[in-house]
Amino acid sequence: MPATSLEQIVSLAKRRGFVFPSSAVYGGLGSTWDYGPLGVELKNNVKRAWWRSVVYDRDDMEGLDAAILMNRLVWKYSGHEKTFADPMTDCRNCKSRPRADHVFVSQKGRDPKGLDEINVAIAAKELKCPKCGATDLTEARPFNLMFRTTVGAVDTGDDSGLAYLRPETAQGIFVNFGNVLDTMRRKLPFGVAQIGKAFRNEITPGNFTFRTREFEQMEIEYFVRPGEDEAAHQSWIDARTQWYVDLGMRRENLRQREQAKEELAHYAKRCVDLEYKFPMGWSELEGIANRTDYDLKAHSRSPENPDAVGELKYFDQEQKKHIVPYVIEPSAGADRATLAFLCDAFDESLVKEPPAEETTKLRDLVLSFAKSVDKKDPKAFDPEAKARLVAAAEKIAAGLPGTLPELLALSDDEAANKIEVFKKVRGVSEKLGEEFTRTVLRLHPRLAPITVAVFPLKKNEPRLVEMARGVKKDLQAAGLRAVYDDTGAIGKLYRRQDEIGTPFCITVDFQSLEDKTVTVRDRDTMGQERVGAGELGGALRAKVG
Ligand code: ATP
Repeated sequence: MPATSLEQIVSLAKRRGFVFPSSAVYGGLGSTWDYGPLGVELKNNVKRAWWRSVVYDRDDMEGLDAAILMNRLVWKYSGHEKTFADPMTDCRNCKSRPRADHVFVSQKGRDPKGLDEINVAIAAKELKCPKCGATDLTEARPFNLMFRTTVGAVDTGDDSGLAYLRPETAQGIFVNFGNVLDTMRRKLPFGVAQIGKAFRNEITPGNFTFRTREFEQMEIEYFVRPGEDEAAHQSWIDARTQWYVDLGMRRENLRQREQAKEELAHYAKRCVDLEYKFPMGWSELEGIANRTDYDLKAHSRSPENPDAVGELKYFDQEQKKHIVPYVIEPSAGADRATLAFLCDAFDESLVKEPPAEETTKLRDLVLSFAKSVDKKDPKAFDPEAKARLVAAAEKIAAGLPGTLPELLALSDDEAANKIEVFKKVRGVSEKLGEEFTRTVLRLHPRLAPITVAVFPLKKNEPRLVEMARGVKKDLQAAGLRAVYDDTGAIGKLYRRQDEIGTPFCITVDFQSLEDKTVTVRDRDTMGQERVGAGELGGALRAKVG
């Protein structure tokens, strides 16, 4: 069963060392997250797979790693200083500050034409505060999303040392266009790829790592002759979609959404968003835009830009003249992709039927929980949550024991945990879950944080331990992320590795000492085969790809 709520993923991520709330010892800092020992491996693997696919596997791409701090003029001429803003309004009644365009869309059922139209609606008291319902909203004003900082030892109080933490990596590529072109002797079409941190003072961060104020982007700027842009754009849309599928993402959870004309940025000719069906609904994973020649022109010396030192252009040998290339931009988020792969890989299922009397006991408990939601606990949560919990509990009770995974998913539901009876339900279901269900992260072997885990059949048998440690060392030397573990019985160790997505587990047993073969257990098929220890590295490398 796939994840039904983001809470399940958050809970697993925290429990198993993928992602922790940041600065937790001081109560945290809203919407900031730290990648733990397994999370850093997973995210690094996502970034590595992206780099391999868009740089190494192609002949028309180069890499770049530009600075986060850039000359402020970059952001002036890119348009970010003026336009990289969300319209905000203040509610005079409850003092909340909602995003005015979101209020407009949700209450009018369509996008506003611009700030003016939003403000006309506010003035006519047609828009209500989403929190308290009052129509006493202030005029909407743009709130710039860029983080400001000061460069230099002295803060002079004016803007002379003002710099921004970059809100996207793309501009670093545009301003290096000439450098890459000259040093790498490239001909059109060619592209530049970059992975790096970006910062946005998002008004409404949330949904775990989906929207944060500090995040990592994986961006490509692909330069083409005008006229060849549409075909190149389509081919990047196809290639980028296929990348997710090749790394195991289910095609039905991925869709391409064509941006409507009104949505397009003013410089964009076309933009297609790749969206993933997250537990909270379809949401953007990556945007693939045709940005025309806007950016290279914006950073070229012209009457509009007297500050640029030169022009970003290309000498076309065929036409014997300078041209300004068009740009196709596939822009993905490393954190969002990592989250999507985690969600897609999550699978919890019943592996054995619990004894009938245990199921009956649990069913009775779940039914009394359903009753309790409805009657005894009319506490502080809304009717919608109540109705959702009653429906879920009744469905689960009717389907037990098959619905045990769904019941376990409810353990991560905040509203359910507010109800007293649920504590009991939780205790019993978690105990049964330990024994009768299996949680597996079906991550592609290339993405899994650990590729192979090696266990000795008995930890108090020095010869087994020594051989298992040797196997681990050889596999690591063969370039596979391998770990040694002897902290539990084999069944328990398999279970732990399944939950973190390790595709292969190896057990060294007494037969291994005699014939130098070991058992390789496959996470997905749970099949086991004996393989010669000497051939392990090659065999597993071939499976990882
Ligand atoms: P959204 O509409 O979700 O705010 P966007 O259209 O502003 O995203 P882009 O500017 O196109 O996003 O950035 C490219 C990619 O960077 C996005 O598709 C997403 O994967 C990632 N990204 C953007 N903002 C954030 C954020 N605040 N947190 C995490 N990832 C982000």
